[in-house]
Amino acid sequence: MLEMIMLGSGSSGNACIVKNADSMILIDAGFSGAEIKRRMQLVGCEPDDLEACLITHEHGDHIKGASIISRRHKVQLLMHPATKRAGHKKFNGAERMRHFEMKEVMELGSLRVTSVPTLHDSASSTGFLIESGGASLGYLTDLGAVTEDNFLMMRNVDFLVMEANHDRDMLWNGPYPPHLKARVDSRVGHLSNHDSAEFIALLAQLGKLNGVMLAHLSEKNNDPELALSTVRQRQERDLEIFLARQDQPSKPIEVETK
Ligand SMILES: [Zn+2]
Ligand SMILES: [Zn+2]
Repeated sequence: MLEMIMLGSGSSGNACIVKNADSMILIDAGFSGAEIKRRMQLVGCEPDDLEACLITHEHGDHIKGASIISRRHKVQLLMHPATKRAGHKKFNGAERMRHFEMKEVMELGSLRVTSVPTLHDSASSTGFLIESGGASLGYLTDLGAVTEDNFLMMRNVDFLVMEANHDRDMLWNGPYPPHLKARVDSRVGHLSNHDSAEFIALLAQLGKLNGVMLAHLSEKNNDPELALSTVRQRQERDLEIFLARQDQPSKPIEVETK
């Protein structure tokens, strides 16, 4: 059994639980320590039970509560060495830090996690592949483009958490200053609904993928219904598609394997 619960996702904070019957990890800790605890308890989980917290990259919306939860709940923080260097002050006081290299395979309790390099304008940026008992989940947020390597690593996942950050027309006609529009739209910025839809369709055509959660939606440059319809229209197969919210946790989603 493999299950995920998105505690919240977007530019105001990201955190996601992945667990099986006996091990639980957190991906990112982008809310305050108290808010992470509150959201975890809302879905029946306790931060004290976390095996580890994996950090994708050093941007504030991914690490805000990392140091606090490492101390308060004795949670091991796992990140790429460049993430630690770039975010060093924000990790002040953090305990139990451990590094991983890209494509390293880690056994966290009974969950197997592989780090996946992604394109983003941080010191280092990581996605994850998580496997348990034959089921697998991919996690890719904060990426300006998907690489062939991303495809190769994710091609057999049953479920994918995938960034669908913005609609390009909304972004370019929206309120951001020009330099920020260019940053978001670049290959090291954030993924558009269109690019997200293309990648999901590519994986779905291979036949194994049976569900996705669209994540890190921009509140200014996207619309949840538009993200959903853009991704849905592109699919030739029936896929279960969920939307991550910023303000509240998702329901628990069981990763099913065909
Ligand atoms: Zn982010
Ligand atoms: Zn970021």
